[in-house]
Amino acid sequence: MLTAEIICVGTELLMGQVLNTNEQFIASRLTMAGIALNYSSVVGDNPQRLKDTLLRAKDRSDIIIMTGGLGPTDDDLTKETVAQVFNKKLVFHPECMEKMALYLKDAGRNMTKNNEKQAYLPEECIVIENDNGTAPGCIIEEGGKAAIMLPGPPREMMPMFNVTVFPYLKEKSGVVLYSRVLRLFGIGESRAAAMCDDLIKNQSNPTIAPYAKEGEVTFRITASAECEEEAKLLVDEKCSKMYEILGEYIYGEGDENSLANVVVQALREKNLTVATCESCTGGLIGKMITNVSGSSEVYGFGFVTYANEAKMQLVGVKGETLKKYGAVSEETAREMARGARLVSGSDIGVSVTGIAGPGGGSKEKPVGLVYIGVSDKHGCDVFRFVQHGDRERVRNKSALCALDIIRRRIQNG
Ligand code: ATP
Repeated sequence: MLTAEIICVGTELLMGQVLNTNEQFIASRLTMAGIALNYSSVVGDNPQRLKDTLLRAKDRSDIIIMTGGLGPTDDDLTKETVAQVFNKKLVFHPECMEKMALYLKDAGRNMTKNNEKQAYLPEECIVIENDNGTAPGCIIEEGGKAAIMLPGPPREMMPMFNVTVFPYLKEKSGVVLYSRVLRLFGIGESRAAAMCDDLIKNQSNPTIAPYAKEGEVTFRITASAECEEEAKLLVDEKCSKMYEILGEYIYGEGDENSLANVVVQALREKNLTVATCESCTGGLIGKMITNVSGSSEVYGFGFVTYANEAKMQLVGVKGETLKKYGAVSEETAREMARGARLVSGSDIGVSVTGIAGPGGGSKEKPVGLVYIGVSDKHGCDVFRFVQHGDRERVRNKSALCALDIIRRRIQNG
């Protein structure tokens, strides 16, 4: 596999004044082009340090991708330094000058003497046209190595990368990549990874990359091959094994999928409706469900019953239940879920009552204690959780747990 290295040039990046979004953009696309990214660095506008970095990169990587420092001013030194390192002369490109003149005219700006500098590119390079700015980019090839130079502004760099660089890289790599993303809920990253330890330990092609974020874990399974069918076959085979081990926790697939999305789709498929009754999550489950377009078909009623009166008046929780067991209890969660279902005439009722903190906890009922109830025509179940983290985290995780409980109820019923 070809190896690549990214070098982003700019003192503003080094000092933290500008977020290095170019790096993230290019890095994510290299994988898709079938190229392994081994190093990435940021260098200030300093010719000696840039030269050192380039020499090292040339030595250890097949492809160097650089952004920034192609501007018209004296501190823009990328081309000059690359030309030096690759033993190339800078030569004037009249066609680049003409394009630049046209661009500036359209933008109502005057060409300055400085701009001329931007039309000087290393000899024998492939020019990368810039439709959104003045600095052209370029690719030089030397002894099986390539250096790709792109301007710093993302709105100039990204289209140039997509139109010219990406196809160039794909052709060079000659590799097709295929991936699937499995999304899990209800299990931590380390436990999930431990459960499929054998698969992960012996991975090479496909690779299995776990990633955890707020309450969920994803596994990206990626294979490279000479054609897509072959890569897909390898990935599908590995995914089947992952399903065998972790299937219970896998709620869906894809980069953009969410638990709420899966719940709404599942409800639609089974022609079911759900109602929510939320205390400590204050409408968060409703928000997550209604984030999904088309959710009105499956979701019509969301009760936010923060006060005891609301629990009694809106969904019929009994005063004596609240008195005897408290608002945060299995019994209250049960009556909330059942009440939400019956009052709204929905097929499923789901409820959340808990202590989000930071105040309000006790020894018997600590901060993070949450009861989630789910009710349908077959009966009602209540699940007890003790969530960790701050108020936002407790609320968010509880809302996600409620969605997962709905998902499991639909799938198993
Ligand atoms: P030009 O001078 O033609 O605008 P350039 O190639 O000289 O292009 P720089 O001067 O290095 O680009 O950067 C211009 C601006 O682009 C920076 O001030 C910054 O806002 C943005 N930029 C540069 N590099 C990055 C990066 N890696 N990620 C995000 N933004 C960047």
